[in-house]
Amino acid sequence: METLKRSAKDLLGLKLTRAQLQAFENYALELTAWNQHTNLTTILDPQDILVKHFLDSLSCLPAINRRHNPKRALRVVDVGSGAGFPGLPLAIMRPDIQLTLVDATEKKCAFLRHMVAELGLITARVLHRRAENLGWDREHRGHYDWAIARAVARLPVLLEYLLPLTRSDGRCLAQKSEGARTEIQAAGRALAVLGGEVENVLSVELPGIAEPRHLIVIKKVAATPDGYPRRAGVPVKRPLR
Ligand code: SAH
Repeated sequence: METLKRSAKDLLGLKLTRAQLQAFENYALELTAWNQHTNLTTILDPQDILVKHFLDSLSCLPAINRRHNPKRALRVVDVGSGAGFPGLPLAIMRPDIQLTLVDATEKKCAFLRHMVAELGLITARVLHRRAENLGWDREHRGHYDWAIARAVARLPVLLEYLLPLTRSDGRCLAQKSEGARTEIQAAGRALAVLGGEVENVLSVELPGIAEPRHLIVIKKVAATPDGYPRRAGVPVKRPLR
């Protein structure tokens, strides 16, 4: 936990309170315990959990903070959250965020619900849904200030999940490793069709991790047309290109 505390401060300028550190410790314990019976993650070494899960997730926070509108709670949807990354670490730091965690797999959602209760995140909710179906739901389409995801799909596919959920002028955030630039090049048509524009690509360095990490920030500049997202499974099968 000392590593997390120090790195969060040095790399991201985040000061973790004792309660927040306790929450992360609790999270690591629960993740490890649940993983014995439910396949949640392959990253299990305690140090790796701190860096590759927690710190990596927290690296989104400065980007999100920069565009915070204090007039109302920030609405964030984490699509394909899995064991809660990057969404839950963000909520530990910013419990005022209205966080929606979405995953297509029920066993992941069961863990997410458990953690939301354990961590006392009263404004967070967990939805067992596919992103494509959520994008058609009037309650969710165009509703979020930020639609974020890590390790869910390549950018052209991911944009079809994220952009329909984002409000106009809102942002999507895709956490990517070294292939970020190539993925952006491949996403030209998806951006044009779905109403997005690459606003920023931020590089993140994590302690002891050689491969670069990138945060691709996409601004929603036009309404996503009717017809998108396409039916569940179609974006993966026939990515926009
Ligand atoms: N974001 C987490 C999990 C990545 S694994 C992390 O970085 O650790 C990808 C997750 O996305 C899986 O849990 C899978 O069930 C979910 N997923 C994949 N396609 C999805 C879709 N179309 N809608 C919702 N969830 C999806």
